[in-house]
Amino acid sequence: VRARVMQVEHSPDVTYEDIGGLEEQMQEVRETVEMPLDRPEMFEKVGIDPPSGVLLYGPPGTGKTMLAKAVANQTNASFIKMAGSELVHKFIGEGAKLVRDLFEVARENEPAVIFIDEIDAIASKRTDSKTSGDAEVQRTMMQLLAEMDGFDERGNIRIIAATNRFDMLDPAILRPGRFDRLIEVPKPNEDGREIIFQIHTRKMNVSDDVDFVELAEMADNASGADIKAVCTEAGMFAIRDDRTEIYMQDFLDAWEKIQQEASDETEVSR
Ligand code: ATP
Repeated sequence: VRARVMQVEHSPDVTYEDIGGLEEQMQEVRETVEMPLDRPEMFEKVGIDPPSGVLLYGPPGTGKTMLAKAVANQTNASFIKMAGSELVHKFIGEGAKLVRDLFEVARENEPAVIFIDEIDAIASKRTDSKTSGDAEVQRTMMQLLAEMDGFDERGNIRIIAATNRFDMLDPAILRPGRFDRLIEVPKPNEDGREIIFQIHTRKMNVSDDVDFVELAEMADNASGADIKAVCTEAGMFAIRDDRTEIYMQDFLDAWEKIQQEASDETEVSR
């Protein structure tokens, strides 16, 4: 089971240079996660505990996973990822056991960054805890809190959680000593979008007529993941046309197409 749901990467290949438009967030992650891993003695000497858990929240595809991977890369820590939804199981005790395994794997791979995506799946405000499924989810969360409360603050394991549903979270996980550092990861503004376009076209053979300022202006409301999709799609347009150079028009067509797909999806889900 372990191998299936837990992904362990030794120094993932994402760096801070790959992330656009999140300067402040990067700064905060570095202070709260990187510093304690790199220079634990600082905290020891000063006599304060670094935050045990950092929570990243914001819309999908804005770079939360990338931030967690970049900090693991920077500190040469292993990156252990698990999705909250994978911790939700039918069988009693299974979720709690997976949480214990998660921390055990982290200890075996120290220094380590544990990344729990979709934390809301196990840490939602109690709706109706009478049903047995909810009680099991509750137990899983209690185990997570116990692991967090239990481990040595100055140890070599840091925990980062992420959610798109901040409003749904159980306040218990936000208490001091748990996920008490909250970092909002919003969609990029226009400047951020320009940088993200540049990042994702770094290895692309783009023509001189491509105007990143205009692209950033056009892609209003796009997330980093959307921008990446536009770049890939622009490349596809060139290939379909049997070209190896990508023109501005390819990006415009790609944006059209991606927006069309997004609106088709909302149609379907309605
Ligand atoms: P989710 O909430 O859906 O898990 P997330 O916020 O964790 O999303 P990531 O997995 O970090 O999003 O981003 C998905 C992809 O989108 C990245 O691999 C990257 O290609 C691109 N991307 C997202 N945000 C950025 C950004 N700020 N800078 C550069 N690329 C980005």
